[in-house]
Amino acid sequence: MIKFSLTIDNHLCWGCKTCEVACKQENRAAVGVKLISVQEKGPGWVDGKLDFVFHVSVCRHCDDPPCAEACPEEAIGKREDGIVIMDDNLCTGCQACIEACPYDAIEFDEDKTVAQKCNLCYHRVDQGLVPACADNICPAHCIYFGSSETKLFPRLRSGKVAPAGQQAC
Ligand code: SF4
Repeated sequence: MIKFSLTIDNHLCWGCKTCEVACKQENRAAVGVKLISVQEKGPGWVDGKLDFVFHVSVCRHCDDPPCAEACPEEAIGKREDGIVIMDDNLCTGCQACIEACPYDAIEFDEDKTVAQKCNLCYHRVDQGLVPACADNICPAHCIYFGSSETKLFPRLRSGKVAPAGQQAC
């Protein structure tokens, strides 16, 4: 069975936040809720000059997700293809999953009083598409989607990131 995941090269990120916009457009998360976020540190010294460092934060779709374990409503489950899905219709807002996630990848929608997280755009994946953030929208080419089986990770295979046009997706 194919195991899907997202690969992000934080070293290439220059902080444009295009991925955040694409995710927001696709998933319509509430104001203030980010299912993927670009975090900024700095300015600090990088390779001898002052610069900012960026880190893309998003659900890692853990092999054995502690968020699912923590949820008393069984609102979080891992599909056979590796995607960890949260069903916010089942969420009662206890926020146990937020406490359990070691990557701070779960947000809380204060208006709906439910937790929300990246579901890896499974509605797109199920149609043969890739998640919105990985759909060749990152101008720095630092977000990839796929699996080792489908060989969609150019960086992992070659040691360097391939131009977007070479992505199988
Ligand atoms: Fe892992 Fe957190 Fe994603 Fe759950 S929400 S699968 S704990 S990274």
